[in-house]
Amino acid sequence: MTQRPAIAPLGLVAPSADTAADEHQRRLQWAVWSSGKTLWEWQARHGGFLVEHRQRAGDGIAPAGDLPDVVVRTEHLDWDAFVARLHPQDRAGFQLAWRQHLAGQRPDIDLTLRAAEADPTAAPRWWRLRGRALGRDATGQVARVLGTLKDVSAERGAQVSVRRLAHAFASTREALALVDADGTVLEANAALQRLCGSAPLTLGSPLPTWLDDATPLPALLAEVLFLGAWQGERVWRGAAGPVPVAVSITPVDAADGEPPCFLVALTDQRERLAAQQRLLHTAMTDQVTLLPNRLAAEAKGEALFSQPGPLPPEVALLFIDLDGFKDLNECYGHAFGDALLAEVGHRLRLALGETATLARWNADVFAVLLPPGSGDTDVRAAAQLALAALAEPLQVQSQALTVVATLGAALGPQHGSDFNTLVRKAELAVHAAKDTGRNFVVFEPELDHAVQRRVRMTGLLRIDADRNAFHFVAQPKVDADGLPVGVELLMRWTTEAFGAVSPVEFIPLAERVGLIQMMGRHAAQAAAQLAAASVAAGHHLPVAVNLAALQLQQPGLDSLLLQACRRHGVSPTMIELELTESALVHCLDQVAPVLHRLRSHGFSVALDDFGTGYSSLGYLRHLPFDKVKIDRSFVLDIDRDTTAVQVLASIVQLCEALGMRVVAEGVETLAQSQVLRALGVHEFQGFLFARPLALADWLALLHRHPAGTLRLPLNTP
Ligand code: C2E
Ligand code: CA
Ligand code: CA
Repeated sequence: MTQRPAIAPLGLVAPSADTAADEHQRRLQWAVWSSGKTLWEWQARHGGFLVEHRQRAGDGIAPAGDLPDVVVRTEHLDWDAFVARLHPQDRAGFQLAWRQHLAGQRPDIDLTLRAAEADPTAAPRWWRLRGRALGRDATGQVARVLGTLKDVSAERGAQVSVRRLAHAFASTREALALVDADGTVLEANAALQRLCGSAPLTLGSPLPTWLDDATPLPALLAEVLFLGAWQGERVWRGAAGPVPVAVSITPVDAADGEPPCFLVALTDQRERLAAQQRLLHTAMTDQVTLLPNRLAAEAKGEALFSQPGPLPPEVALLFIDLDGFKDLNECYGHAFGDALLAEVGHRLRLALGETATLARWNADVFAVLLPPGSGDTDVRAAAQLALAALAEPLQVQSQALTVVATLGAALGPQHGSDFNTLVRKAELAVHAAKDTGRNFVVFEPELDHAVQRRVRMTGLLRIDADRNAFHFVAQPKVDADGLPVGVELLMRWTTEAFGAVSPVEFIPLAERVGLIQMMGRHAAQAAAQLAAASVAAGHHLPVAVNLAALQLQQPGLDSLLLQACRRHGVSPTMIELELTESALVHCLDQVAPVLHRLRSHGFSVALDDFGTGYSSLGYLRHLPFDKVKIDRSFVLDIDRDTTAVQVLASIVQLCEALGMRVVAEGVETLAQSQVLRALGVHEFQGFLFARPLALADWLALLHRHPAGTLRLPLNTP
């Protein structure tokens, strides 16, 4: 490479002493430098290139009115060296263009090509190489080619990024448009065209607006210009009907003086909304019954109450509570329980029709919301339909069974002016129905008092259960001759606030709040103590004690009873355990072993209240009872009701066949006792023979009468 004088001769006028010419020269040099171009010349004579690189001399600011000095460095390159400066992949292209131009086949050389890099991993620099033959010699050969080289890497980078952005704009799934301040479409992509469908979008026409637009697009754009980006949801006039879209409008940075421009992005919401809908549906559906769940019922109920109108809304809510479902579930397993619920749901759905909203409220409670405007008559009718639907035996996992349900209803607005209150009132009605042994109760204000009473009573019961503030009475049972054969121990509770509370009230309460087991311990002790005292008085009279359903599941039941017997020195054969039917009905498989175990210790077991609730002669065969106590309700009309007599006769027969004794409860009249005696009932209990007696009175009676001489009732001659 040869260093040449500072000012090179490439077509430029050589320096002269003339200052004007010098000034002209300086201007030219400066103009070439500031264009960023490098000049080159090829001369056929030399077969090589002369390349001029210009550089500013110094980097300070030139004095005012003065042009900066430009220094020129000249490089001589032969053909190969020049070509070697090009990227290997671009060399052939250059050589072809060169040959074609020199042969007159192309008007000039204008190529964008890469420079060869010393470091092959570096990003290549791009050059625009232009050239044109200037003169031909006598033989017609090109003598000189003059040209420029310019580094266009930056422009090219920008071009690439513009191309990429354009591609992204065109191919994204989001529908995009660039609009001007009037909403006229400057650019639109394919997704937007698809959204518009059959009515193709033309550039230069206004962007079709959404259907529900309150603010016209230009007004919105004017806002965006001041306030920045805007986002919202709109319904787009789509090809095949309305399409919900999420809209986002962003002002595009405009250079000074350029008119404002906006990017409008529309995202089709159909899929997302459908997914959301599916999710919502799942969240609102009970997976066992496929009915709406509690969440859905609450939403619906609240919506009914918030419906606008001149009058408060009429809303009827009915709860259907399945009795003993928990036992069933525990006994037969959850799969069985689920199948049962599904079947019950299905039946109720059919019975109540489409206008009522039937929902699964919780584990074993269904809720029914009647259509708005339903009142007392409607809710009673619905309750009857539900009860009728459940009355028929169900088939679940090839087991036939009957579900018993307790229903409670409340009506808006008279029982509550919001849904929550209505729910509470309907729940109260269910409780009231259960407490009073009815299957359906519509809420009434008195129930509120009953609840207050129950709450206060529960508080007192907790205290008294803890300190055993109960006492017991005994009611004798006699044989056909009126000779006592045993006593039943009955619990009594007297409080200052409520006076004497019936066990019919406080026993179920104790069961509900989990106090019954503690109270049962007191009863077991009292029973053993009474048995011991009877023996001491010379009477071998077993004492019957009532066991609640929950106690039967109590793990320490056996040892509790045995320990009471040991403590008072009586044999377990002196203790009889009375279990009500409802405690057993669902779980024969689990109850039978418990009964066997208790009997193996020497206790005898009696089935209490037979004939109420789930009466079934069938399971008597499967459970090892010593005794069956016929419920008072059965005895009540026995002297008048011939059907009752027939039923009782067959019960007695069956029990005899199974080796069980039959006891009649609640015998109040001579007439009743005569019928019962004629039927062959073995034992009798009731006011006719003796009311429940204070233990001291009963023991005094025993003391006064030697065994075998006490006959009841006392006043019989
Ligand atoms: P239950 O086991 O059926 O007891 C018999 C009930 O009938 C007793 O009521 C008794 O007073 C009543 N009764 C007896 N004879 C007649 C009669 O001729 N006519 C009428 N109208 N009633 C008669 P009580 O004492 O009010 O007990 C009610 C229920 O409370 C009992 O029914 C029993 O289920 C439960 N209970 C009582 N004491 C206990 C206890 O210590 N533990 C448990 N778990 N439950 C108990
Ligand atoms: Ca009893
Ligand atoms: Ca009874």
